[in-house]
Amino acid sequence: MCPGNSFIFAEKSKSVSIELIQNTLLKDNFSREDLVILLGADEEGRKLLFEKAAQVKNEAVGKKVYFRGLIEYSNRCAKNCYYCGVRSGNKKVARYRMTDDEVLEAARFALENHFASIVIQGGELFTQEHIQKIGELLLKIKEMSQGRLGITLSLGEQTEETFRYWFECGAHRYLLRIETSNPDLYRKLHPANILHRFETRLKALEDLKKIGYQVGTGVMIGLPFQTLDDLAGDLLFFKNFDIDMAGMGPYIEHEETPLYQYRQLLMPRINRFYLSLKMVALLRIMMPDINIAATTAMQTIDPQGREKALMVGANVIMPNLTPVKYRENYLLYQDKPCIDEEADECQRCLEARIYMAGCEIGWDEWGDSLRFKRKNPSQINEKP
Ligand code: SAM
Ligand code: SF4
Repeated sequence: MCPGNSFIFAEKSKSVSIELIQNTLLKDNFSREDLVILLGADEEGRKLLFEKAAQVKNEAVGKKVYFRGLIEYSNRCAKNCYYCGVRSGNKKVARYRMTDDEVLEAARFALENHFASIVIQGGELFTQEHIQKIGELLLKIKEMSQGRLGITLSLGEQTEETFRYWFECGAHRYLLRIETSNPDLYRKLHPANILHRFETRLKALEDLKKIGYQVGTGVMIGLPFQTLDDLAGDLLFFKNFDIDMAGMGPYIEHEETPLYQYRQLLMPRINRFYLSLKMVALLRIMMPDINIAATTAMQTIDPQGREKALMVGANVIMPNLTPVKYRENYLLYQDKPCIDEEADECQRCLEARIYMAGCEIGWDEWGDSLRFKRKNPSQINEKP
């Protein structure tokens, strides 16, 4: 795993002049080289990038932020990704799966608090029991909410048949990060076996699109061995794939993972944070009408990280609705925030911060990806 030690990574690998940043920002389409230049912007250049992204965001999707109540359904996972704290190889984690009642209660909380959408996220499992269980839960949530809750799934790679079954049971958005669009880097981040193939991930994303899901993907930013050129490639991958939604955030190390041994290769966390903001800002400029999440990992580095992401391009936020008793066992990375706050406490502090960031909350709105709506006008069934 993780062979080689030749990597170049710095938030700013060499000083980029402000004129070059200004001129590059004027272009209609960014080349890979342009993106590397913009990703390397220093503080002054970064400010210009963020201003432009904020302007594009306001014009394309406005000030509204949509809430997706995050339900971390289970940390049982058949996979062993080298970066993730809940990988199957980490025997120090107590495994859990939420009961149906707990999931329904969290969904009801979302509904009653006007979130309008939830995300069910968890480890990747392929058993018939799991597939069936998720299908049944989807039907129960649809019934309980009388179809008013939008449901996003984030349950890893599955067969086309499973994706279709869950779609038919009521899920309509799916988040599956590509993690990195560079196949060589992907191989350094995953075990070399049939369960962790880059090609399978690509096929899964294609299947989701074909079935009719709104497809979200994303990458981790600041990984060991990752370069600015890789990140530029990721942005171009999103555009070429024509994604509907994105969720990106800084990579954060976890002691009980194989990647931890490379921690000395990492840039400081604050640089990973700024690089993540630049990725959000650039993606907003490149794809003005998609949904972009302000991710929890942003908040791990900067307590106001999610609000800052909203200011430079993000328009979706995922308040955590997982029962507190499970949260310490869903630690994908160290220092994950809000692990001891109940959902209503999380929500109150979040609301105030969103208004302070100059945004409004799209209460009771599904807030589907505008890009998806434009591509598929007949498929949208905006509830409630
Ligand atoms: N198992 C599903 C999957 O992998 O798509 C969904 C859950 S998984 C925990 C969600 C995301 O967490 C992954 O796509 C990955 O990008 C992110 N993640 C895992 N470990 C991380 C880490 N150490 N730092 C930042 N993000 C991490
Ligand atoms: Fe499992 Fe997802 Fe973590 Fe990989 S990232 S080990 S698939 S939970």
